[in-house]
Amino acid sequence: MKPAAGKRKIQKILLDWFDRDQRDMPWRNSRDPYPIWVSEIMLQQTQVKTVIPFFERWMKSFPTLQKLACSREETVLKHWEGLGYYSRARNLHRAAKVVVKEHKAKVPDSYDTLIKLPGIGRYTAGAILSIAFDQPVPVLDGNVKRVLSRLFVMQGNGVPAAHENRLWEVSAQLVPGKRPGDFNQAMMELGATVCLPKKPLCLVCPLHKRCEAQQQGVVDQFPAPQARARTQKIEVSAAVITRGGKVYIQQRLHGGLMGGLWEFPGGKRKPDETEEACLKREIKEELGVPITISKKLMTLKHSYTQFRVTLHVFWCPWKSGRIRATQCEQWKWVKYEDLKQFTFPAANAKIVKSLMSNGGKF
Ligand code: SF4
Repeated sequence: MKPAAGKRKIQKILLDWFDRDQRDMPWRNSRDPYPIWVSEIMLQQTQVKTVIPFFERWMKSFPTLQKLACSREETVLKHWEGLGYYSRARNLHRAAKVVVKEHKAKVPDSYDTLIKLPGIGRYTAGAILSIAFDQPVPVLDGNVKRVLSRLFVMQGNGVPAAHENRLWEVSAQLVPGKRPGDFNQAMMELGATVCLPKKPLCLVCPLHKRCEAQQQGVVDQFPAPQARARTQKIEVSAAVITRGGKVYIQQRLHGGLMGGLWEFPGGKRKPDETEEACLKREIKEELGVPITISKKLMTLKHSYTQFRVTLHVFWCPWKSGRIRATQCEQWKWVKYEDLKQFTFPAANAKIVKSLMSNGGKF
């Protein structure tokens, strides 16, 4: 089927279905571009039900772009803690400053201007322009890709970039002049709730009579499975260094992976090292002091997109020496109960939770 052929019918079916069956989401009650923008950034890589409480807390603390722009990065990152992919929060913060400074605190309604803001790509620009400004601009996220691939039996033929371009073209052909934002949201909603990656609910799908893959009985072939990138496994040793009722933490360098977040010192184990030898070497390199390991506290596993970390955590009561931490932004001795004021990457946050629950009694 050529997209243009059944275009109006598809638009009507999807909009009727969306009016009837759309899920309730806090950002859907408004056409204000700022909350729509925030929700779209949070929804990248994260499911709706996870995002809702983060979104509500964010809007309470940063109800306007001005308020966000003048907030400290540490505060902004703290509101993102638990969502992961912190560059999204950092970019949103930077973009808010640009909008306040250069656009009188009004979210731009032109594609060319929006796309220049930090963290806004083709998808986010399309979502903001169509939902907040009623402009017929397409979107293409993972859900829309899957729906379109099945609806029009579109395969990649081994050239992902060309396939993606064709999908953008089809999405642009389909988006209507009237209610473009609702139509785009309907496509995304259909992919998230009906046209699922595995076991799509074709029997209850409003488009099942128009869907080529369904008609041909080849739904499970779309989209074609992609070669999965191999996940790297990393072994890390980390130190909980304590002195009196306080614990040592340091802030990761800005600009690097998870930059600006706080962590317990440590690092990657070399192939020929024990966990303890790795920790002693890392602390000597990072802090410039030797440490004594008292005991192992825990082993944690955490998965990131590209790698899986096994974190071996040791208790190291402070001995002596002068800390010269050169590979971090700053470092501090912090009371256990104050740890919650700092933002940690997910794996380190598990250590914090444990320390706060037992008050540092090992
Ligand atoms: S009929 Fe099935 S495969 Fe086709 S769009 Fe609907 S859910 Fe997806």
